[in-house]
Amino acid sequence: MNPIRPTIPLDAPGKHHGFLRLPYSRNDSAWGSVMIPLTVIGNGDGPTALLTGGNHGDEYEGPIALQQLAWELEPDDITGRVIIAPYLNYPAFKAGTRVSPIDQVNMNRCFPGRPDGTVTQKIAHFFDSVLVPMADVVLDYHSGGKTLDFLPYAAAHYLDDADQQAACVAAMQAFGAPWSMMMREIDAVGMFDTVVEEKGKVFVTTELGGGGTATAASARIAISGAKNVLRHAGILGGEIERSDSRMLDMPGDDCFHFATRDGLLHPLADLGEPVAEGQPIARIWPADRTGVAPVEVVANRAGLIAARHFPGLVQTGDCLAVIAVPT
Ligand SMILES: [Zn+2]
Repeated sequence: MNPIRPTIPLDAPGKHHGFLRLPYSRNDSAWGSVMIPLTVIGNGDGPTALLTGGNHGDEYEGPIALQQLAWELEPDDITGRVIIAPYLNYPAFKAGTRVSPIDQVNMNRCFPGRPDGTVTQKIAHFFDSVLVPMADVVLDYHSGGKTLDFLPYAAAHYLDDADQQAACVAAMQAFGAPWSMMMREIDAVGMFDTVVEEKGKVFVTTELGGGGTATAASARIAISGAKNVLRHAGILGGEIERSDSRMLDMPGDDCFHFATRDGLLHPLADLGEPVAEGQPIARIWPADRTGVAPVEVVANRAGLIAARHFPGLVQTGDCLAVIAVPT
């Protein structure tokens, strides 16, 4: 039995702001709790959308959009239910870090979680076993965090069920980010995406920028995207704000480019820039001496730069760049 208890009803009409309260006994609070902010808005019979941000604690577009939505969306605006959790991994969000400072667990690698596990595993288990089953459509925001930066895109995955994949692609296109990505994961095991898709739900995720902050443009994309997905699901009235979203694909593992040594990153191609196969996209200079040739990283395939390493220093094994293919 999961120990998390909502402080508000999950199935009542009206608008309720509260928390998911997770008991967390520790040195500075014997009977303390982790209080994860939650808003539930309900009005009549209709579909349920689950909107989540802060799966990683250093990604900000989702939390911004969901704070605004929780503030301005009223029951009369909707048909059905909207469950809003801006800070999925709340301890990580509070610390401004990707993984939780309590247990060092990466929320998006620990699904379906454990009811008797660590703090992060318990939160994951509650979402997997209680909130996701209530939902028809799930939107989970991501951005690059402190170490990556992305072209702003909504994304869907290739799925075995063609009808489910088509429904996810339609919702991704409704989101209306400047780019829409058929996304390949380095490691899909333990991801929120995977457990939601395995339950047959319509799932949209995003990568909306990065570097450990948001911009005015990325925040606008995040806010209009949530409203568009709610309209697409038939929950929110009004017309979808159509955009000329451009489709991208990640056809193979060779889209990913990794650093083969530590050093000083010298980018040779920026986000959105087209590159040819074999074209140098970055150099890694030694961080400890002059007079030594850099390692040159070349494009594995033609395409455009969809993601890049953000900090100026790289470590061996870091993801340096992702090249996606316009379709
Ligand atoms: Zn993330």
